[in-house]
Amino acid sequence: NTDTGLSLNLAVVGSKGAGKSAITVRFLTRRFIGEYASQADVCINRNIDVAGRIADVHVKDTNACDWLKGPSALIGWSTAIAIIYSVTDKKSFELATYILSQLNITKRLEADNVLLLANKCDLEHLRQVSRDKGKELAMKYGTQFYETSAANDLNGVQHAFERLLFSALSSQECK
Ligand code: GDP
Ligand code: MG
Repeated sequence: NTDTGLSLNLAVVGSKGAGKSAITVRFLTRRFIGEYASQADVCINRNIDVAGRIADVHVKDTNACDWLKGPSALIGWSTAIAIIYSVTDKKSFELATYILSQLNITKRLEADNVLLLANKCDLEHLRQVSRDKGKELAMKYGTQFYETSAANDLNGVQHAFERLLFSALSSQECK
């Protein structure tokens, strides 16, 4: 990694099993491998092209309980947050709702630097959370929203993260 002067901290949060690791690996390597180790807090550093500029991006693939144990350190660290839930798991949507409410209270991150990402939309037959419910939640807080699948939607995942990082970079430069 070269020092580019631009640096972003991206936390990927949400329920266990929602697909945080699958989404992170998909974004960083463009691959879906199916099984992911469940260690706490894996941090991966990459130089990533964000709309033509290279940023040193630190991606923290968190463990589900990191958020519940005390999110303040994580919120303080992050310049962007991706909240993942699974459309096949109502509980994961409830946690995403809770996380958004907590973030909203702290007012530390601009809404545009928060991404609500509904994962596993390839599993339509197991769906428990409608697309409209996700959209509605994102609209309530003004965050970005994408419904996608780490398993089979390469472009959706890339697009969602590129937009999130672009927005985080833009607000950093305004400071
Ligand atoms: P994490 O606990 O949030 O990190 O969840 P993982 O990334 O480990 O994913 C949990 C399980 O869901 C794994 O078996 C993944 O292969 C699977 N999974 C993740 N994303 C998708 C997806 O988009 N579609 C399908 N069908 N399975 C997925
Ligand atoms: Mg994981």
